[in-house]
Order: sequence, then structure tokens, then C-alpha cells
Amino acid sequence: MSAKIISGTEVAKAIREELKVEVSELKEKHNVVPGLVTILVGEDPASQSYVSAKNKTAHALGIHSEQVTLDADTKEEDLLALVDKYNKDDKINGILVQLPLPKHINEAKVLYAIDPEKDVDGFHPVNVGKMVLGEQCFLPCTPHGILELLVRSGVETSGAEVVIVGRSNIVGKPMANLMLQKRPAGNATVTLCHTRTKDMDAHLKRADIIIAAVGVANMIKADQVKEGVVVIDVGVNRIGMTDSGKAILAGDVEFASVKEKASAITPVPGGVGPMTITMLMKNTVQAAKQAAGLI
Ligand code: NAP
Repeated sequence: MSAKIISGTEVAKAIREELKVEVSELKEKHNVVPGLVTILVGEDPASQSYVSAKNKTAHALGIHSEQVTLDADTKEEDLLALVDKYNKDDKINGILVQLPLPKHINEAKVLYAIDPEKDVDGFHPVNVGKMVLGEQCFLPCTPHGILELLVRSGVETSGAEVVIVGRSNIVGKPMANLMLQKRPAGNATVTLCHTRTKDMDAHLKRADIIIAAVGVANMIKADQVKEGVVVIDVGVNRIGMTDSGKAILAGDVEFASVKEKASAITPVPGGVGPMTITMLMKNTVQAAKQAAGLI
């Protein structure tokens, strides 16, 4: 069997088209223009490219976007003051502070300072708590994007054995929580694996759906998965450089071998990545509608 390739690029494109229409209707009917600010501290090249992709996408959808780049030695209090300024700015509905922050800044303190109504990354404890309770909130972008990918690719999750590898706060933990809820792409029986998991192979082998969010290139191989499994590969690992200086990326799953056994699989790049940025835009539009009292 050769797997169906679940193209995040294609699904993201369809959602962006829908968002573009929604943004234009918001402007025409309600004079509302969603606004997003991205705040980057320092010059990490990967963070720079993520932030620039976010602003470019926002711009293409008609979302007002501002980008602030601060020196790596910016004081925590100055960053907090900037967040506070945007909390009070009516033109801005979403505030994104690009992670990781330099070591001298307390990341939690900064994320908790963002107004939960503008927390379009979905990292504030108020939004995390609401997510766990299944209430309306901003869902974290990567798990949100994976839910959309599963729904729009017609993957049946109800009653499925889902094995998630990786328990980070931004991917693994929220993913597990969302997939066990009574919701689209939910109702699954979820197992969450990590470095202390005993006999990872036994868990992987019985999985109907594997979600890999580990950060180890090509870690999961074909002999560890069952025939017909659906694989969502979140990993983005830089494994080299092309002659032109472009990063060569690999996922956490050995794509070439696993695709021969899986029924469906996401590629890296072009799988989960484009969905993450798209869900940030969706959350920003949701924030604008909430601020305008439209939802
Ligand atoms: P993270 O915070 O580093 O967490 C990695 C998790 O994987 C941890 O829970 C760790 O277990 C587990 N792990 C590491 N090595 C393992 C092993 N050998 N066996 C079993 N579990 C292992 O990572 P993250 O932020 O979730 O990111 C994971 C990957 O996804 C990275 O490659 C990242 O670049 C990528 N990512 C992609 C997107 C996207 O939009 N495409 C978004 C976010 C992240 P312990 O907890 O026991 O240490």
C-alpha cells in the first residue's frame, strides 16, 4: 500500500480562501479589520522566518499586521510594557510573542501578561483551562491545525486508538486533550508517550492514528507501525543544507518507508506547518469578531 498524502499546503490554502472572504465581509458589513501584532526578541533565524511568514500570510488575507523586532538584550519589563500597550490598542486583536524568548526573560510571565481575549496562540492559562473544559476559547494553533487536517481529510477518529509521541505544552498535551473530547476529530482513545514510556513499540504498533511531535529526525520507522495507520508528522528537524543555503527538513517519521505501510500520511515540509500559521489567522479573525460582539 502507498499512503494517501495529506497535504497541509492544500488544506491550508482552502481555509485561507475561506478566511479571506470572511475578512472582506467583516470589513464591508461591520467595518471591522482584524489586527495582529507579532513581537520578536532577538535575531534567531528560524524565529525570524516564522514571524515573517505569519505577517506575510496576515497581509495576504487582508488582516492588519504589525511586526515589532526587539534587541536580544531587551529587558523583561520593557517587553511587558509593550504587551500592555498592545493589550490596550483597539486596532490589535491578536498578540503573538514569538518563542523561544532569550533566557533572561521569564516566558510564562510574558505569556500570562497577554490579555486572554488577544491570546491568539492559545497559551494563556485562561484559554488552556477553557480548552480542557471544552469551552469556546482560542485553541493552540498546531493542535487546532491537526484537528482541521483530520476532519477535512475524512479521517475517522471516533473510537480510534490514537498514539501521540511528545508531551509538550504546545503540541502533545493539548492534542491529547482535544482528541479525547466529544468534538469533531475527537472521541478517540488516546495514549500519550514520552521519554519515560516503556515499550513504545507496543503502543505504536496498535495505533490507528500516530501523531509524532518529538523533534528527532526520522525516529519512527515502518517496522514500528501497523499496516493502514494514519500518520500526522509534526516534527520539523533540520538535517542539512542545500548548496544554496536552504535548510533540508525531515519529520519525526521516516516518510519514505512509512508511507508504504500507512493509509495516509502528512509530509514534512507541507504537512502540519502550513496549518499552524493558518490557524493563527483563524484565531485572529475569531478575536476580532469577539471584540466586535459578533460572536
Ligand atoms: P518539545 O517541547 O521539545 O517536546 C518534545 C517531546 O518529545 C517531549 O515530551 C519529549 O519527552 C518527547 N521525546 C523526545 N525524544 C523522545 C524519544 N526518543 N522518545 C519518546 N519521546 C521523546 O517539542 P515540541 O515543541 O512539542 O516540538 C516537537 C517537534 O515538533 C519539533 O520538531 C518542533 O520543531 C515541531 N513543531 C512543529 C510545529 C509545526 O507547526 N509544524 C509546531 C510546533 C512544533 P519528555 O517530555 O519525556 O522529555
